[in-house]
Amino acid sequence: MGLKVFISADIEGTAGVVSLLQCVPGEAEYEMGKRLMTGEVNAAVQGAIDAGATQVVVCDGHGNMQNIIPEELHPEAELVRGAIRESLQMQGIDNSYDAFLMTGAHAMAGTHKGVLDHSWVSRMVYSIRIDGRTLNEPCLNAITAGFYGVPMVMVSGDKATVEQTQAVLANVKGAVVKEGYSRYCARSLHPEKARTLIRQTAREALENLAQFKPAPVNDPLCMEIDFYRTDMADAAELVPGMKRLGSRTVSFTGEPEQVFRVQELVLYRLKYEL
Ligand SMILES: [Zn+2]
Repeated sequence: MGLKVFISADIEGTAGVVSLLQCVPGEAEYEMGKRLMTGEVNAAVQGAIDAGATQVVVCDGHGNMQNIIPEELHPEAELVRGAIRESLQMQGIDNSYDAFLMTGAHAMAGTHKGVLDHSWVSRMVYSIRIDGRTLNEPCLNAITAGFYGVPMVMVSGDKATVEQTQAVLANVKGAVVKEGYSRYCARSLHPEKARTLIRQTAREALENLAQFKPAPVNDPLCMEIDFYRTDMADAAELVPGMKRLGSRTVSFTGEPEQVFRVQELVLYRLKYEL
């Protein structure tokens, strides 16, 4: 049996992407952003196949979760697309997978020179902690994968994101496709060069799969979220089991799968207008 590989894809860490105009449906450069994102995902899929993958599932993990262009996706990959779902960027992961890779990743909110830095939802989240440690999205995803016994083996994105991820998960392979000068400015590889790098890095990581371990996951798991405003914490506090730690801070402790669901609920599904 060949490898079964899970790829989670975001858009902000893609080579050539520096602006919200490339990341938000309806904006002037969104179609370009989608194409660039799909190209990097395809490179990771091909790298996985080069290393012997026979099953590759790609999870679209940005915004409305409908960014990858289905007909332009590598034909050997299956696509998880759309919402509502149970797990933000990891919908469908389970213990049948051999490895997890992430493309297009960005740094956590508050990262200097992190291109389009944020944590899940720019307008809401100042910081998110698991068992006391502030983490970026790739590391949060590695924990979800780790719960199912699946190791994270590669991340691609800007320099700040790769370094931030490797500071927590030292042996995750990194493909740096751009380097930020500021939140909205970067020096980037050409998309073709970026894709070559991602393909090679994915292949090398999967050919050395034995050297990776699933991220350790405590049970119960404690998630804390600092919001930007008090009303966001007011709404989150309505979730049974949620504790209010401060005016803008809540925490939820539970079984890991419960925590992943609460994360999705609080950050993406609690809609309110005042
Ligand atoms: Zn995103």
